[in-house]
Amino acid sequence: MVVEDVTRVKDYLNKTKLTSLDYVINPYVGCPNKCLYCYAAYMSSFSKHSEEWGEFIDIKRTNKRINIFKIKNKKVMISTVTDPYNSYEQKYGTTRMIMEQLVRSEAFITVMTKSKLVLRDIDLFKKMKHVEIAISISMLDEQLKKKIEPYSSSIAERLETLKKLKQNGIRTIVFISPIIPQITDFKRIIEVTKDYTDEYWFDKLNLRSSFKTKMFGFINEEYPLYNSIYENIYNYKNSRYFDDLSEEIEQYCIKNNLEYKNFSAGT
Ligand code: SF4
Repeated sequence: MVVEDVTRVKDYLNKTKLTSLDYVINPYVGCPNKCLYCYAAYMSSFSKHSEEWGEFIDIKRTNKRINIFKIKNKKVMISTVTDPYNSYEQKYGTTRMIMEQLVRSEAFITVMTKSKLVLRDIDLFKKMKHVEIAISISMLDEQLKKKIEPYSSSIAERLETLKKLKQNGIRTIVFISPIIPQITDFKRIIEVTKDYTDEYWFDKLNLRSSFKTKMFGFINEEYPLYNSIYENIYNYKNSRYFDDLSEEIEQYCIKNNLEYKNFSAGT
């Protein structure tokens, strides 16, 4: 059972040192999506919860309005360590409240989600000067998705979401992330999304802390033939796999005239 708490914060806006961003907004602390590979689990140590990551969610509240003048022409990401349209958003509406405050801002806003609930806020996106919606997709197989990303929208729902956003004139990104070695087929994902996608982003699977153990356990159970590949990448820090893949992505995107950002090289 997920523990729900309301937590007071000073400001929804947080400055960030993340590359090519100025501010991040995370409307929640915690994420009930429970992706097997979740990179955000380190956030547990910044919370008061003893429950495991994925078993709690704090709903952020503040009376301070977002200073839209401070973020004029700045890059703002919603969100980096939670899904802003996770299943609790339907009940608490924190992301909707934030979007309402951002409607008249002149910031460059990127919304990152795995949820069809993002469609609820199309009315607000249409009023914004610069907004783009990034939908993450790592695989197309629904059965596999249920095992790796059990509580987010299905792949069919994400594809439909992408299509509806595009039909409503909203700029769309498919974030092919994480690229899971031997499992993510980036070309196939592009083939099925290219009619509704303005830009592609790519990032590799990073494995930290307990999630490395979980992912290794999953690979050992479902794809034991890949064990040595995973050991090479994540235990011996061999960058060859992702360096080669990154090169392939570059060539494919250039050949197909795609707009893209590629963060997949290295370990
Ligand atoms: S949606 Fe993102 S933050 Fe939430 S569990 Fe999945 S990887 Fe973690």
